[in-house]
Amino acid sequence: MKAVTFDRHGGVEVLQYRDDLPVPTISAREVLVRIKAAAMNYNDLWARQGLPGMDFIFPHVSGTDAAGVVEAVGPEVTGVKPGDEVLVHGAFSCGECLECIRGEPMFCPKFAIWGFQTGPNNGSEAEFGKVPARNVLPKPENVTWEGAAAIGSVLVTAWRMLVVRARLRPGDFVLVWGATGGLGTMAIQICRLLGAKSIAVVGSDAKCELAAGLGADYAINRTRQRINREVMRITERRGVDIVFEHTGADTWENSTYCLKWGGTIVTCGATTGFIAPLDIRFLWNKQQNYLGSHFGTTAELADALRFVRSGQIRPVVGEVLPLADIAAGHRLLEQGGVFGKIVLVP
Ligand code: NDP
Repeated sequence: MKAVTFDRHGGVEVLQYRDDLPVPTISAREVLVRIKAAAMNYNDLWARQGLPGMDFIFPHVSGTDAAGVVEAVGPEVTGVKPGDEVLVHGAFSCGECLECIRGEPMFCPKFAIWGFQTGPNNGSEAEFGKVPARNVLPKPENVTWEGAAAIGSVLVTAWRMLVVRARLRPGDFVLVWGATGGLGTMAIQICRLLGAKSIAVVGSDAKCELAAGLGADYAINRTRQRINREVMRITERRGVDIVFEHTGADTWENSTYCLKWGGTIVTCGATTGFIAPLDIRFLWNKQQNYLGSHFGTTAELADALRFVRSGQIRPVVGEVLPLADIAAGHRLLEQGGVFGKIVLVP
């Protein structure tokens, strides 16, 4: 099969586009998906570059998001059959341990992100991928293959952050970092869906317009505006109810300044660095909440996909590339200029 693989960490030169990899062999409860489109994520960069303290399985095929057609199913699979059009929820767990039964598969000892912690040679940036049968969901008919591939990880992550962890309520003010990126485009649409007021933070005036087009109530250009001054003006000096964080070290201090007393910072990432200061006095005195969030469950993705089917949340695809041009995708992701997601077509 065709796939992009690498057997050591490094720059884009380690990526090899090949057409001679074996098709993955499925086990009893897995399905083989013929991939029509795959979306890129930051994990692809980290897998390629390497992360301290994390061992990757080589040869490595990256890719956590895919949409495609079921090619084959294992003998114990029910409810999914060859020919089904599906999208993959790229967070795998055993489905049997206490944490899985409790509905917390992210705490499963076998939790693994597809194309990041799996392998060898099993991720979505290929012609075929193998995944547990419980990780495929029907593809919404009203979106393209590219759209279906683009929406899984960012929708479920933003949904869990805002709806499940931070308990977003109508009328809440939400500060959304990276509002025209993969996660940010979902956060803006979830806020609009649930009647909350989003304040988009972006890196250019053009992106302010894109954020407004998605439904952001306010947009701040971080390169020329003082974020906390704008936030205090918009919220009449209260601060925001929720900060949607994933940018990390560079933005953390501003996130804490913008947060109201009793407010919540919810974070799932640290694009600009992992270590940030915390003034513990604020935590108790202002009774603020600092929440971590990671991916989401298949059930949460299914909940959120109802609003994709209804047209209230739409995938945002900024760039479609042939799989063979993956190095260009890595460069675009590093530069951060894409509106929404980069999608690869094998
Ligand atoms: P994108 O590349 O699509 O978007 C990232 C955005 O971050 C850019 O649009 C950019 O916006 C903004 N940004 C970059 N540098 C800065 C900076 N110094 N200050 C402020 N904003 C900055 O990435 P995703 O939205 O897909 O993912 C974002 C992060 O979340 C990644 O670190 C990723 O690994 C993590 N993540 C975690 C998940 C989890 O489950 N734990 C799941 C999905 C993602 P602009 O320049 O316009 O301000």
